[in-house]
Amino acid sequence: MTGTSRYPHVFAPLDLGFTRLKNRILMGSMHTGLEEAEHGFERMAAYYAERARGGVGMIITGGIAPNTQAGVGGKLSTPEEAAQHRLITQAVHAADPEVKICLQILHTGALAGTPDCVAPSAVKSRIGRFTPNALSEAGIEQQIADFANCAAQAQSAGYDGVEIIGSAGYLLSTFLVQKTNLRTDQWGGSWENRMRFPVEVVRRVRAAVGERFIVIFRIAAMDMLEGGLAWDEIVSLAQAVQAAGANIISTHFCWHEAPVPTIATMVPRAAFTSVTGRLRQVVQVPVITSNRINMPAVAEAVLARGDADLVSMARPMLADPELVNKAAQGREDEINTCIACNQACLDHTFGGRLQVSCLVNPRACNETLLKYHASSASKRIAVVGAGPAGLAFATVAAQRGHRVTLIDSAAEIGGQFNLAKRIPGKEEFHETLRYYRRMIDLHGITLRLNTRADAAMLQAEGFDEVIVATGIAPRTPAIAGVDHAKVVPYIDAILGRQPIGRRVAILGAGGIGFDVAELITHAGTSAALDVDVFAREWGIDFKNHPRGGVTGVVPQVARADREVWLMQRKADALGKNLGRTTGWAHRMTLARRGVHMVAGVEYLQIDDAGLHTRVNGEPRLFEVDTVILCAGQTPLRTLYDELQAAGVPAQLVGGAFEAAELDAKRAIDQASRLAAII
Ligand code: NAP
Ligand code: SF4
Repeated sequence: MTGTSRYPHVFAPLDLGFTRLKNRILMGSMHTGLEEAEHGFERMAAYYAERARGGVGMIITGGIAPNTQAGVGGKLSTPEEAAQHRLITQAVHAADPEVKICLQILHTGALAGTPDCVAPSAVKSRIGRFTPNALSEAGIEQQIADFANCAAQAQSAGYDGVEIIGSAGYLLSTFLVQKTNLRTDQWGGSWENRMRFPVEVVRRVRAAVGERFIVIFRIAAMDMLEGGLAWDEIVSLAQAVQAAGANIISTHFCWHEAPVPTIATMVPRAAFTSVTGRLRQVVQVPVITSNRINMPAVAEAVLARGDADLVSMARPMLADPELVNKAAQGREDEINTCIACNQACLDHTFGGRLQVSCLVNPRACNETLLKYHASSASKRIAVVGAGPAGLAFATVAAQRGHRVTLIDSAAEIGGQFNLAKRIPGKEEFHETLRYYRRMIDLHGITLRLNTRADAAMLQAEGFDEVIVATGIAPRTPAIAGVDHAKVVPYIDAILGRQPIGRRVAILGAGGIGFDVAELITHAGTSAALDVDVFAREWGIDFKNHPRGGVTGVVPQVARADREVWLMQRKADALGKNLGRTTGWAHRMTLARRGVHMVAGVEYLQIDDAGLHTRVNGEPRLFEVDTVILCAGQTPLRTLYDELQAAGVPAQLVGGAFEAAELDAKRAIDQASRLAAII
């Protein structure tokens, strides 16, 4: 069976009358951070062209501002700026003339992050930096004109269409919601008045670009806000923007300030598409669905059950630009799946770091800088350690033509990923391991498991290069009684090698302390695998769709019969350094499970009575049955030191190179970059 027959709905073209999409998968909008970088347009052109070659039907660019108040790095309002954008559209159309590319027009409104930011009313967003300036009626007229001008410039730059974002807490959506629109003129008050601005933007954009141009309107089909949009308002808005000239409606499921995760790894795949399906019944134009659709089979199922006409995949296209071709060719086991971690994409965007990339694919947004050329001389390379760094190195090096032997003392590949995949909500790590297993076969990597490499063996085999990716050793803090029977290292806790009691202290509140707390307080089915459980845990009502989609009552959270204290020595709030866009959800989950967060702890002793501490200077005994150590890591360099002593040249990558705040993003990036030049 070919890929195209396995995914008949995905590979059915879509006729828009004046133009045609070659399949039903589009690359959704992702800010790249290149919009304002030196040589950013050349780099964006290469980035989008690579996705066009990879088989996607349509691309939506990262958000581009229609004017200087819009609060986005890249702007398109002049012919000079349009000339720069031509680099992108030409590169995409040269890569595949059938692929359409649309510019997303983004005005962030109250989230613009500058004192001159504007909104319908002077209502500060919970996550905004400044109270916005309320627009005058003339100011509103100017904003509409700027949207229309931006669309016209996009058309002259060679784009096939535009997407107008009317969701997420950005300018258009703040006109819609009562709490952010306090106006009493024709732009506020009644629902008809509140939707006037977005509808007028669509009408004027359509008038500026004519009929033969794609105009997509992105609507918050569930904004996740208490007091947010009611279903009948969403329907009437969708019908009004359709009448005003939108020829595709794209459904979105968030306001950025809403306290419900909608794309993070704890969200089930395709959790929200039923809402798009309902909207599809009441409009005539095609609708796009999105959120946590990361594999072709998921997209096919969504389309087959009639939830949408098109499926948007944004982050999955960062992770693997060739996703659609691989599906078409029946090579889905080669897809490098987006694990929804946000660590190298949205955490960078929202953390104010300029550039976006991808944890599992460091080439994303670095296409012109990080190239995996075939090597001119094929070397014999030993890679010791099959964790994230070793796997990434081996894959890239073998793909370039080197003969790679990958050695690990464990019985399976994956290293620390084998811990991550056991944490409820992190099931996607199984996909990364599947991908690497396939890469090992595909690129003819010799895999030696259950093998402890030593310097003599590596020297005797005469490898041209030795890469040491031996990872980390968990840190055992120097606390009196740390060898007590009730003390359990985190690896044993996660692998279930030792029993965990009913009252538990977790020492260390980094990513792993939080993961362990999640694991040991969890009960029942993982919410990431069951939409009903997820909906109950986050107070979403898909069936009745109250305002915002959320019930407003305290969510019901299943939890294990355990009392847990998560602690750290620092006086800061716990979990401060977790991912910018996901940390809040982890903190909220643990709080709902009743986990006690204790900062400013000095560990004194562990004995039969429990854990003796001073908390902010005051003596305190935690009468616990188990103490789990999650106190960070140190590099495991025994082999490297042996090789040095034996005079065998070797290079360190991953946790063995640097264990502090060890993370897979840095390990994979470092290993891939070294493998690209070796
Ligand atoms: P970590 O983030 O570096 O945290 C280590 C924890 O141990 C800190 O809370 C630290 O807090 C404590 N600690 C350090 N030295 C100690 C000592 N000598 N005695 C007692 N406590 C000590 O490391 P991790 O939790 O092992 O996680 C490793 C990395 O894995 C993370 O940085 C992250 O990149 C990655 N990861 C990420 C996630 C995620 O959600 N994104 C999840 C899992 C893992 P105090 O010094 O204040 O006590
Ligand atoms: Fe997906 Fe994580 Fe890559 Fe972002 S960084 S695209 S969430 S795998």
